Amino acid sequence: MIDHSSGDSTTIVDGATVADEAARFISAGVVPHVIGGERRESIAGGQRELVNPSTGNTFGAVADGTAEDLDAAVQAARQAYDDGRWRHLAPREQEARLHRLADLLEQHKEVTGDLDALDAGILRRYASYISQYSANALRYYAGWPTKMVGQIPPVGPDYVVQERVEPIGVMGVIKPWNGPGAIFAQVAPALAAGNSVVLKPAEHSPLSATYMALLALEAGIPPGVFNVVHGDGVVGSALVAHRGVNRLSFTGSVGTGRALAAAAAQTFKKVNLELGGKSPVLVFPDADLETAVAAATTTVWNNSGQVCTAGTRTLVHRSIYDEFVDEAVRVSQDLTVGNAFDPASQLGPLITPAQLAKVRSYVELGKSEGATMRFEGSVSCSGGNYQAPVIFADVRNDMTIAREEIFGPVMSIIPFDDEAEAYRLANDSEFGLAAGVFTTDIARANRAAAALDAGTVWLNCYQVTDAAVSYGGAKASGYGRSLGAPALEEYTRRKAVWSRNY
Ligand code: ADP
Repeated sequence: MIDHSSGDSTTIVDGATVADEAARFISAGVVPHVIGGERRESIAGGQRELVNPSTGNTFGAVADGTAEDLDAAVQAARQAYDDGRWRHLAPREQEARLHRLADLLEQHKEVTGDLDALDAGILRRYASYISQYSANALRYYAGWPTKMVGQIPPVGPDYVVQERVEPIGVMGVIKPWNGPGAIFAQVAPALAAGNSVVLKPAEHSPLSATYMALLALEAGIPPGVFNVVHGDGVVGSALVAHRGVNRLSFTGSVGTGRALAAAAAQTFKKVNLELGGKSPVLVFPDADLETAVAAATTTVWNNSGQVCTAGTRTLVHRSIYDEFVDEAVRVSQDLTVGNAFDPASQLGPLITPAQLAKVRSYVELGKSEGATMRFEGSVSCSGGNYQAPVIFADVRNDMTIAREEIFGPVMSIIPFDDEAEAYRLANDSEFGLAAGVFTTDIARANRAAAALDAGTVWLNCYQVTDAAVSYGGAKASGYGRSLGAPALEEYTRRKAVWSRNY
């Protein structure tokens, strides 16, 4: 169990003021896997340094697993599933424990916020929001165990058929580093449906997963029901290949998602894929310009562009194009890029030096392909993986910066001449994750919502989410839905039971 005794007192870790509890969690030794309800080091003794993206400094270590650790976690999950310690609990009791976990997460979201800010460089105030998002998902799914009803389809008088909704077994969940505390978007529906879970967080952002798995034990989720194994893609691919895992949920890059889906096919595992995006934000001449500029810029600067739904292609009608670009530059002029813990920072660091180099290469590519770099902000601090916000104007939709996911604070503004062209450009992308539309013409808004090839369309808003609303992509952005009632379909299966009446 976690020692919560330190209350509100704080400690300095790598120059940042963090909750005592977060500091103790890191300094207690190598941050472990959680397998079968126990804190475990790696069987082969492997560990990985924890590096702070805001400073480049090492501040601790986490267990670095192998296929052997993964296998131990799958066995623990399988045993917990088979003996029914969770799925056979009374549904009202499952609900009570999931609510307790949501309570605990809300009570300790300052700790998880500190952990996500330290290992993933998530802006400290945004990190608490991510933990709250996870708590909201738990709260939403906590209501479901008593409501997982099946059906009795009509088949005539000779038989009665119960179509039962059952858990699937052991769920494998693989998560990326850009919102590490958001694990319950996938883990909560899996648990609510009665499954056991093996979670592999991203190797760069492991801390909050271990902490949250320990909170789950404290809330009464039985040992072995929610396991965490740390490691890189080797552990991820072992999870995908493992015959004891029945179903997968993957959030990450397109390349890894494609390879993962192919590998999963070998053992007939269905996969939920939440991949990247190159989402368009359409701004029509009748839009409220101030609202549109604020939303279109915020979505790209948010989490330094490291968000799947970032609206990185801004499509603006030519009649307001110059004014829009000027305004986008003006509102971005004074943004502060800096340490995730500095309250003045509006953009934090990128996750790794490699990610920074990748983003920089896209910026160079944008210039060499002929886009006009209208703005590059400044970075006043050193040591971390900092990229200033960049605005490109005169971007064509066939330029690489408009086609590939950059995952950094790079905005590309593309002109269009009429509504049909706007939809054609918006849909001319490998991706189909999300889209935004800014217009005060309700008929146009409705036409746009129907025309856009995306899993989510926001009209006069952007990146609003709620655990009750399902989320997912089209095309290379993946398949399957997370959140809301539709996600439960992904974590359950149907069984038809026929009984004879004669
Ligand atoms: P990114 O480029 O965002 O790091 P990835 O898609 O490579 O994206 O990583 C997302 C998650 O997938 C991480 O937890 C990572 O360790 C894991 N991963 C990487 N390669 C594989 C793989 N071959 N099989 C399964 N998981 C993998």
